[in-house]
Amino acid sequence: MRTVYVNGDYLPETEATVSIFDRGFLMADGVYEVTSVLRGKLIDFDGHAKRLERSLSELDMKSPLDRDALLEIHRELVRANEIDEGLVYLQITRGSDGDRDFVFPDPATTDPTVVLFTQSKPGLAQSPSANTGLKIVSIDDLRWGRRDIKTVQLLYPSMGKMMAKAEGADDAWMVEDGQVTEGTSNNAYIVKDGRIITRGLSHEILHGITRAAVLRFAREAQMEVEERPFTIAEAQAADEAFVTSASAFVTPVVEIDGVRLGDGTPGPVAGRLREIYLDESLKAAI
Ligand code: PMP
Repeated sequence: MRTVYVNGDYLPETEATVSIFDRGFLMADGVYEVTSVLRGKLIDFDGHAKRLERSLSELDMKSPLDRDALLEIHRELVRANEIDEGLVYLQITRGSDGDRDFVFPDPATTDPTVVLFTQSKPGLAQSPSANTGLKIVSIDDLRWGRRDIKTVQLLYPSMGKMMAKAEGADDAWMVEDGQVTEGTSNNAYIVKDGRIITRGLSHEILHGITRAAVLRFAREAQMEVEERPFTIAEAQAADEAFVTSASAFVTPVVEIDGVRLGDGTPGPVAGRLREIYLDESLKAAI
């Protein structure tokens, strides 16, 4: 049985509890992070810790734990659950003052709820989709306007994955005002004539930690990067496409709305970036 962390305690998962009045449960008033584990080490922990700080501060929540305390909990869970490949999920909600109210409870008297657990995913780095590539469908982006804050309001992204599955695809890219914003749980890229094109940072997308690392590695490898929005039609005419996220790393896309990209197999730029990302991230893992 897994050991999980709840508000200062390490407990067997069946003994961990959170109040039914928790604002995370009642109002999705909470933020989260997912940090990958490879060879028992955390990938880009500091990137995730920094984004967590930002998400909390954008929602007027104080961080209940500093970077070092969070690192310690992550490491303890990885150790206790013997995670070799997998991930650590962290969620912080505004907690509860024992009732339901739209008004935020007084932070002086209401502690946030902090939950962390691990998921073991053997073979994470050798996922089959890295070799086969993903089939994507496009859907309208119907999410709220602050997608840069990593909140636990994941109903629409979850519905998006179901819409993709219903069409025999693997995932969905969301489109707003004719342009792709991002994937349901990843950032979206196309490659044309060797140039990597991905939407720039704004409130419209999550500022992916993997995105930041991959773009840095791409520039270091003298690849050209263009940060601008693109349409589904442009993506369908691209040489290749891919997505990035903490748990999918760099994963190629081979089909968009039924149109195969290039020859319909994963492209070389995505393959190279995946390799560089995994190599460099492992070197820096803690
Ligand atoms: N966009 C969305 C909507 C996501 O949910 C995620 C994954 N959390 C990402 C992008 C990728 O972010 P990261 O690389 O930090 O996992």
